[in-house]
Amino acid sequence: MDPVCLTDLTLPELTEYLAQLGQPAFRAKQIFKWVHQKLITDLDAMTDQPKALLQQLHERCTLAAPAIRRRQQSKDGTVKYLLEMADGNCIETVLMRYHYGNTVCVSTQVGCAMGCRFCASTQAGRVRDLTPGEIAAEIYTAQRDTGERVSHIVLMGIGEPLHNFDNVLKFLTLISCPEGVNIGMRNISLSTCGLVPKIDELASHKLQLTLSISLHAPDNAVRSSMMPVNDAYPLEKLIPACRRYQKITGRRISFEYSMVRGVNDSPAMARKLADLIRGMGAHVNLIPINPVDGSPYSATDEENIRRFRQMLEDLGVNATVRRRLGADISAACGQLRREDAAAAREEKERKDP
Ligand code: SAH
Repeated sequence: MDPVCLTDLTLPELTEYLAQLGQPAFRAKQIFKWVHQKLITDLDAMTDQPKALLQQLHERCTLAAPAIRRRQQSKDGTVKYLLEMADGNCIETVLMRYHYGNTVCVSTQVGCAMGCRFCASTQAGRVRDLTPGEIAAEIYTAQRDTGERVSHIVLMGIGEPLHNFDNVLKFLTLISCPEGVNIGMRNISLSTCGLVPKIDELASHKLQLTLSISLHAPDNAVRSSMMPVNDAYPLEKLIPACRRYQKITGRRISFEYSMVRGVNDSPAMARKLADLIRGMGAHVNLIPINPVDGSPYSATDEENIRRFRQMLEDLGVNATVRRRLGADISAACGQLRREDAAAAREEKERKDP
């Protein structure tokens, strides 16, 4: 029998699991707190549990406790981790320090299948989904490492969250649970490249999180040239899905728009963008596209981004220019990549033999 990863279980699931071992419900609550609030990495740390139960858990269970294979800190305080999962796969996680608190940017898959032409995370395809506990453990690892509380989460690391829908939903349940790290849905943002059926499915759960759509272009020709997903779900499907989402959840959507010189940054594009989303009360986040090896794109300069933003505002669309954190350690949007554990170890050995 495969071991059960305790970190993956919601409180009701853990209660049921322990009931099968003949344990009362209060044990489940205690153990859930050890795993999701006290963030233990070793079962023996649960000092209030009977020896016999710990023995049973040792025989049947594991905890998601990724190893920090590399830690890089940016001038701006951003920290990027290369984390190795139990099976040797590596992903990246980023901790950003904002005035309102610490935000962790989590990966949801090992690699990504979406194929966006500007993004490093997808260059080697998708290897597998991360489990709910593995995603939660990204946050717990950053919290343990820094000794600082994490108040906000963005699902904007490697992977397409809506392409790993069930695990992501369970992850949200784990971290918003009062018996766990208790991060409120309003402090969570989920970003998607635009998987329309999954946007509708997410809407039906009526979560109070912020949905971000990676839009990047206001017409199908340009968007398809940047994002293959647009062929399956073009703008005439995506934008109505966004409107439905707002109507059902009562939450405003935010659109991400990475600015590429000569591709999506002209005044004509600003007008098209405004026409596409005006009246939704939506918010546009502009960022210069970040450099990625093998990408054909270069960034719009700051002056032009400011002009583009002003045009959107004048046309009645709310827009801000997003701060770029962690670019000096390749931790900015689209720069995260899965990595080979072996390669990471070799690099480490080269640096500090
Ligand atoms: N798959 C999800 C989650 C990734 S979030 C999604 O597509 O939304 C990462 C954000 O960074 C997305 O908006 C993505 O489009 C954007 N991005 C990817 N590569 C980038 C790059 N090179 N420069 C700027 N933004 C990039």
